[in-house]
Formats: sequence, C-alpha cells, structure tokens
Amino acid sequence: MAAYPAADKAVPTTAPGSHQIESGMKIEKDRVVRFHYTVSEIGQEPIESSKDRDPLAILIGHGNIIPGLEAAMMDKEAGESFGVDVKSAEAYGERREGLTQRVPKKHFGTTRLIPGTQVILQTNFGPRAVTVEKVGMTVVDVDLNHPMAGKDLHFDVEIIEVREASEEEVQHGHVHGDGGHQH
Ligand code: ZN
Repeated sequence: MAAYPAADKAVPTTAPGSHQIESGMKIEKDRVVRFHYTVSEIGQEPIESSKDRDPLAILIGHGNIIPGLEAAMMDKEAGESFGVDVKSAEAYGERREGLTQRVPKKHFGTTRLIPGTQVILQTNFGPRAVTVEKVGMTVVDVDLNHPMAGKDLHFDVEIIEVREASEEEVQHGHVHGDGGHQH
C-alpha cells in the first residue's frame, strides 16, 4: 500500500481569521508584482540585473513596464521563474534618427561626460537616460534614444510576490511602498 496520505487529507486547512500568505495568486491587471530580472541582448552577456538590489515592484496593466515583458508575466505566480525573448518593438521601440539634441553643459552638473557613455539628464518630464555623442566647451550633443532602443532583449525573471493593489495605487497608476513610490 502507498504510504502517502490521500490527496484530500494532504491539503492543510486554514483557520478563519488567520493571515497566511495567499498562495496561487496570479498576475493580472491591477495586481502588484515584485520580481527580480536580468536583461541581456539576445545571446549576449547580461546588461543589467536587479539581483544585487531590491526587487522591482510594478502595478500591472498601467503601462509601467515594457509591453513584451508584461504580457509574458500574465497568469504567473510567486515562486515562478521564466525566460522570455522580447522583440525591440515590444521592448523599448525602434531607434529613431534625428534624436540628437544639443544641451548646455551646466545641465549635467559634475557628471563626467565621455562620448559613447550613458548619463542621466534631468528633463521637464523627469530623469532620462541619454547617450553622450560629442562634448564641446559649453554644450553637449546627446542621443535621446533609449539606450536599449532597437534591441531584441532576453529577460530572466523570478516572481517574488503577487498581491492585490490598493484602490489608491490603482488611482495613481503606480505602486506605493516597497519598491514603489514613497509619498
Ligand atoms: Zn502615488
């Protein structure tokens, strides 16, 4: 005879009012997912990873993450890991020509400006990653394309937590608290 308990007895019952972490909650719109990721150009070394810092927290269904990655996450649960290839059109879009802009040097503060490197430029729309093209005496030419524009990317993802978003988070369209907005 098998020594295993019958399936119906193997399921632990949860006492009313207890606060066990809900398992099996799937990723869907208006839920918050915390996850680790590593991103690379397909077939190449990783460009960036969250593994050496806190996981990222994203509100699903509000345009907070590239569409190809969000689509791949749907219906996954905490504890799941997966890899996905995302075409540039579903990632950071295609590279666009003519996005070079001349910016006064003072806008970069004390940042070292080396052609070919990426720096963060403070714009009216918030911080933006740009690529330094040419450094003059008083002005800097930067390429406004996202550094990963035009690239097909591979993501390795580990889902850490899935929870319901609060009403306030849904109204704001972003996550509050751990890994999100602090306000
Ligand atoms: Zn908010």
